[in-house]
Amino acid sequence: MEIRSNLNVIASTLPAHVTLVAVSKTKSIAMINEAYAAGHRDFGENKVQEMVDKHDKLPQDIRWHMIGHVQRNKVKYMAPFVHMIHGVDSFKLLKEIDKQACKQDRIISCLLQIKIAKEDTKFGMSKDEALKLLKSEELADLRHVHIKGLMGMGTFTSDQAVIRDEFRFLKNCVSTFKPLERSNLHFDVISMGMSADYQLAIEEGSTMIRVGSSIFGSRQ
Ligand SMILES: *Cc1c(COP(=O)(O)O)cnc(C)c1O
Repeated sequence: MEIRSNLNVIASTLPAHVTLVAVSKTKSIAMINEAYAAGHRDFGENKVQEMVDKHDKLPQDIRWHMIGHVQRNKVKYMAPFVHMIHGVDSFKLLKEIDKQACKQDRIISCLLQIKIAKEDTKFGMSKDEALKLLKSEELADLRHVHIKGLMGMGTFTSDQAVIRDEFRFLKNCVSTFKPLERSNLHFDVISMGMSADYQLAIEEGSTMIRVGSSIFGSRQ
């Protein structure tokens, strides 16, 4: 019941252009089922094996978002069903996703993760690295991936001004990259904002928020 009301409270405040990804990592099948019964379909996980296990046990119309750091040797396990991979941070990884998507006769949606926080622990590419990838000629050969936008994680801090600057930087990257759009490359999605900062993220142009603890409760 609580999951349903948490979802409804958050969903009721979201503008129509913002997609809510319910981050269900570490949470049980029963809890995900409760959110599903409330009508929710977009779920996020940060470990491939956990996502595969849950995919096998849950309704097949769930859209699974991989929001964690992805190792190349794990891509094959999620390639048959993953809806969107948010954490793409190298051309090598993109190439592997393309290869596995090709085997499945699918086109997999991807977001490039940009490092927007100053902390060393956060994954992602610098703006320049992303620019280099986006301009590379080899990108045109990847016909089984579709880059749909960017993803970023703000610094873990209570200082709203710091986080706002980081979100602004990501939005700014989108403006820079927009002229590079081509058949398998668009910038319609900005995945930023979590439980603590999603309102701020929406103010700064987020179109996709990834919310876990505010829906399912805190994690151990
Ligand atoms: C866990 C996680 C979230 C959700 O965090 P909450 O603070 O629980 O909302 C969002 N994005 C990523 C990449 C995560 O790993």
